[in-house]
Amino acid sequence: MGEKEDMSVIYDFKENIKNDELEIIKEKIKSGGLVVFPTETVYGIGADATNGQAVKNIFKAKGRPQDNPLIVHISNYEMLKEFTYDITQTEKALMDAFWPGPFTIILKSNKKLPIDVTAGLDTVGIRMPDNDIALSIIEKCNTPIAAPSANVSGRPSGTNIADIFQELNNKVDIFVDGGNTNIGIESTVVKVDNNVVNILRPGRISLEDIKALGFEAKLDKHVFEDVKDGEKVESPGMKHRHYAPAVKTLLLEYTEDESIMLDVLKKYIAKNSDKKIGILCFTEHKQFLKEYNTIDIGSINNKLEVSSRIYTKLRSIDKLDCDEWIIEGLSRAGIGTAIMNRLTRACSYNILK
Ligand code: AMP
Ligand code: MG
Repeated sequence: MGEKEDMSVIYDFKENIKNDELEIIKEKIKSGGLVVFPTETVYGIGADATNGQAVKNIFKAKGRPQDNPLIVHISNYEMLKEFTYDITQTEKALMDAFWPGPFTIILKSNKKLPIDVTAGLDTVGIRMPDNDIALSIIEKCNTPIAAPSANVSGRPSGTNIADIFQELNNKVDIFVDGGNTNIGIESTVVKVDNNVVNILRPGRISLEDIKALGFEAKLDKHVFEDVKDGEKVESPGMKHRHYAPAVKTLLLEYTEDESIMLDVLKKYIAKNSDKKIGILCFTEHKQFLKEYNTIDIGSINNKLEVSSRIYTKLRSIDKLDCDEWIIEGLSRAGIGTAIMNRLTRACSYNILK
């Protein structure tokens, strides 16, 4: 560790996983510490899921509301048996199809995990990530790891260490640097009810992907609808403020005819000439927006490029001098549902159309 006992250290695993440092990570986790590590979706703040105090410390580090449960990360099916029961055939088939991968499934909890992990629910969210660093850490510690996204609650999730170091420095013991995460938005979260796969949070694994394997599946209504006061939600995370930059943002509605989008955008900026407005726009639209402040969020024809960049771009606009930002929306096909879900919420449901 560094000179100051509370300083976080960074281990560089970008090129390869270092065994001596993996050993220290294990000791930290086993003694109740917090370790930021990469997955294929976003970075997580990990703690031993069986250690109640360590789990409490995750909530403290993030300022996370107590009623928002954590996803438990495992590296093999044996770990499942410790804290779930009555897994159905459909649930098993889903795990076999999408694990390891960006896919979280809500299962029945046998209540052996500390209450903070599940926020007192009788279910637990489980994922087997598809990332060598994440899997080696879980395997080495030989314990399930509870890990929410690495960010202060409400902020965009971290997709590289530079974006989150300031925010979490001194609040965690170790940062493990695995470079940029490739998917860039959090896992798909599903719960199976009466054999129907209900998508509580969309992600890289889309509704279409799940249906393509013969499952009956649907999007939960709260994926695009705000939760009303007092309304019951399947996934507590849905009701909290999320993914938001500090500066005001507006989401420009997608239209198949892209010239309509550009028209709406230019009219809005002309009408608000007293404000300095920036645009998070598609690569292809930059040429039509030369007189404005723009940031490239990737190609409109490459949604994976957009998802991998979106959080780091959302974070970057807080450091720039604009009163307001407009973000171009894209179609909801495939991973587009997940991107638009995050952007709708990042913009607090303010849609420009
Ligand atoms: P994050 O940790 O930021 O990736 O968020 C995890 C998401 O999974 C949140 O939206 C949680 O509400 C959701 N989640 C975790 N466990 C459960 C559970 N047992 N039931 C429903 N949703 C869950
Ligand atoms: Mg999160």
